[in-house]
Amino acid sequence: MSDCIFCKIANGEIPTDFVYNDDKVVAFKDLNPQAPVHVLIIPKAHYTSSAAVDDRGVWSDLMTGAVNVARELGLEKDGYRMVINTGEQGGQTVPHLHLHLLAGRNLGWPPG
Ligand code: AMP
Ligand code: ZN
Repeated sequence: MSDCIFCKIANGEIPTDFVYNDDKVVAFKDLNPQAPVHVLIIPKAHYTSSAAVDDRGVWSDLMTGAVNVARELGLEKDGYRMVINTGEQGGQTVPHLHLHLLAGRNLGWPPG
């Protein structure tokens, strides 16, 4: 998608420091972090949201990437949260599938 900001990040059009990069997904720090660690993991392929995913391999790639980031950042001991906001009521603001990885503080539950 030519006008999608996360596609531009994934394909290098917008220069970004990647926390993680493999053949299917990239990860980078959230611009507006909600926790000491706030990383976004996205598929390189464009999917508008979780609801648009029609290929189970996407979930495998995304979750594997997210767990790899958590490992590389040493988050297993204290824990972390993974979140995928979907659609308007889900709080999604960027229409390219992304997984939030949050850590570094006690995260409240239920979410707001
Ligand atoms: P969501 O509200 O679940 O769609 O999450 C979108 C996230 O993308 C928000 O946490 C934003 O802070 C983040 N964001 C938007 N633009 C950028 C960007 N250019 N680089 C990094 N994070 C971004
Ligand atoms: Zn996109």
